[in-house]
Amino acid sequence: MPRPVFVIPAPEQASIAVSGGTARFPVRRIFCVGRNYGEHAREMGHDPDAEPPFFFTKPADAVVDDGARVAFPTQTDELHHEAELVVAIGTGGANIAVEDALGHVWGYAAGNDLTRRDMQAVAKAARRPWDMAKGFDNSAVVGALHRAVDGAVPKGRIRCLVDDDLRQDADLAEMIWPVEWVIAHLSTLVALAPGDLIMTGTPAGVGPIKPGQTCAIEIDGLSPARVTLG
Ligand code: MN
Repeated sequence: MPRPVFVIPAPEQASIAVSGGTARFPVRRIFCVGRNYGEHAREMGHDPDAEPPFFFTKPADAVVDDGARVAFPTQTDELHHEAELVVAIGTGGANIAVEDALGHVWGYAAGNDLTRRDMQAVAKAARRPWDMAKGFDNSAVVGALHRAVDGAVPKGRIRCLVDDDLRQDADLAEMIWPVEWVIAHLSTLVALAPGDLIMTGTPAGVGPIKPGQTCAIEIDGLSPARVTLG
């Protein structure tokens, strides 16, 4: 097929940094898991044993690199941080088996699923979609991506600090649905493709970030995902 001619300039390819080099990882879509840590499900008023995790999305161009300074989002008085392990898909597929799932991963990163919590509460109460509570501009802070080695999934602590205040501190092993299950299950809903990111859910301790504060997500063995709200 001939290269298409566009009537306006084609959008820039969204991408994230890769640790140890200048080449970047192109972002196709961003999927997010809701309620993947029991204590967080309970703090939001849900029973993690009764409700399996579910998915929502953010636009690819919501990604922000580590160290960015972004404008405080409009239309919210309650911007929340959510520390999350981010999975980057390198090989696509549909109906991926759990035992094959980790072979589809290119790498892992630390991420922050920024959330307009007040708007999300209104949406929940009105049974409306979460898009504007979750998928706003600059809402996916992602640290430099680390190449997966021999199918190993990151292990250890996941933390969130707002300035010097430790807000979230959990172990990745507390995830209800492990990475391979999340990939397998998501691939029954959509055909995964190279460039897809999956934000795998947040542990307990979500809370507000105020204008002027810096929020850092840290995961053992990975680069941090830091953002300063302007
Ligand atoms: Mn989240």
